[in-house]
Amino acid sequence: MPEGDVVWYTARQLHEALAGRVLTRSDFRVPRYATASLAGQVVTEAAARGKHLLIRTNGGLTVHTHLKMDGFWRVRPAGTPLGEAHKVRLILANDKWQAAGYLLGITELLPASAEHRVTGHLGPDLLGPDWDPDEAARRILAQPGRPIGEALLDQRNLAGIGNLYKAEVLFLRGVSPWRPADEAGDLRALVTLAHRLLDANKARIGQVTTGMTGRGMETWVYGRRGAPCRRCGTPIRKHTGTAAEDRITFWCPNCQR
Ligand SMILES: [Zn+2]
Repeated sequence: MPEGDVVWYTARQLHEALAGRVLTRSDFRVPRYATASLAGQVVTEAAARGKHLLIRTNGGLTVHTHLKMDGFWRVRPAGTPLGEAHKVRLILANDKWQAAGYLLGITELLPASAEHRVTGHLGPDLLGPDWDPDEAARRILAQPGRPIGEALLDQRNLAGIGNLYKAEVLFLRGVSPWRPADEAGDLRALVTLAHRLLDANKARIGQVTTGMTGRGMETWVYGRRGAPCRRCGTPIRKHTGTAAEDRITFWCPNCQR
């Protein structure tokens, strides 16, 4: 599942390919914007805001996309044939590059002045210029009895964490995902660790929290159901919630209390 670091990296790729250049073509393959065209406009910026991606133009418009579970972008030289065309939701192209968004969970076009409608609810962005660990901790504590694992995923508290970083930071802090927020220890230290992990991974492909990049070595608990804990050997457990994919978590029942 794409998390804040992946979105940040994607935004940087899109910014390098699109910013400062005139769009020669746009193709929204979602019904609502099927007739929209950005051709002739200059992309001024591609930016990540939590897990949201904003591509702004000099025409005062913002393309808002979200990768959700399966989305991704491919940036290729202009004219390259698209693979898996049926999965494409949006194409933005200039005379040098084409960027294609695949399986995007959200694809919409809005006035830049209305961006707050889609990102205004977000808490401090872990990879943004406004990152503020105290404010993130304050927001989490506003619901003191809520399980900390759930609170970390709530983008209104802090923006950018998904299941992987949630599981990993809680392991590293020795905190059970079900412990109430106000009993989860030093929340400032917890969110600061999340910031460090995302920041360390943002400029590369792959998500590593152990410092080891070898296959199968990248994480402490995420994706390791049944495998021995790297610290104590206890089999890692996986919990799949009743509701959304959002509730999946991995943890060591011995190291995390
Ligand atoms: Zn353990």
